[in-house]
Amino acid sequence: MNFNPNYHTINHVIKSFIGSFQGITHFNYTPDELLVLNLHSTPLWLLDEFRKIIRFLEKRFNIIHPDQLEEYYYGYPLASNKPKLLFTFDDGLKNNIHALNVLNEFGYRGLLFIVPEFAETPEHDQHNYYRNHIRSYINAKIDRLPEDVSALSPEILRNLVLEGHVVGSHSYTHTMMNNDHPDKQIREIIESKNKLESWIKKPVTHFCAPFNSARSVGKEQMQLIRSHYRFFHSTFPGSNGSAKSPHFIKRVNIETFWLMGAIKFACSTAEWHRWAGQRDLFSEQIDSQ
Ligand SMILES: [Zn+2]
Repeated sequence: MNFNPNYHTINHVIKSFIGSFQGITHFNYTPDELLVLNLHSTPLWLLDEFRKIIRFLEKRFNIIHPDQLEEYYYGYPLASNKPKLLFTFDDGLKNNIHALNVLNEFGYRGLLFIVPEFAETPEHDQHNYYRNHIRSYINAKIDRLPEDVSALSPEILRNLVLEGHVVGSHSYTHTMMNNDHPDKQIREIIESKNKLESWIKKPVTHFCAPFNSARSVGKEQMQLIRSHYRFFHSTFPGSNGSAKSPHFIKRVNIETFWLMGAIKFACSTAEWHRWAGQRDLFSEQIDSQ
């Protein structure tokens, strides 16, 4: 991706500049480290960018299947001399199907975090739902097609699961807050799981809260998550290998419209340090373990 002021802010360019100079040696993860990436919208016109990102990453990481988290967190260390990497996609946008097709081309699979109420909304209303519940600012120069602001349907999800991709819950309504009433906590955390399981006919074992995890998950929510899911995915970057905690998986955000330097920056340990303060506060908030 080349610089374009329609998509890239000055901050982004600075990050990309720093990332470009970090070079290959900066990816000095131990072989047991796991980098979990999280993307959102994956528009059709950016698929070649996604292919470039995968080619860059697969040289440096062993890209794993979502089900391998089971071995990584609850079993034996995964045998490989490279650090591991997992692709996750938040919000369940219809255009994620293109990114998953690209993963299929390479022989990889992804983990999708779905908002059941978005997927259940009548198609003509999904754009509104998306703006009101999920993302208030949409850059129409990036998200150009109706599929860039509408949801994967239950039928498509079923097919994606048959292809080997994995579905997790991203809360029922994407409005989950850490001070929600207990009834709403049950809807967001438990009913979302039940609904998704009724669609895909498989257990749903991954949960990812919306927004910054500290805004959406407090101690009570974390208790519910721990007792209903095997994995909790946060919005904080950090090491997954040093203290293996399946209910506090660190993730790093990238997007397909980003400059390659910014993707290098995001995939380096620089992000671990930048987020250390907020990550530790969140850890205290949910009272880990
Ligand atoms: Zn989200």
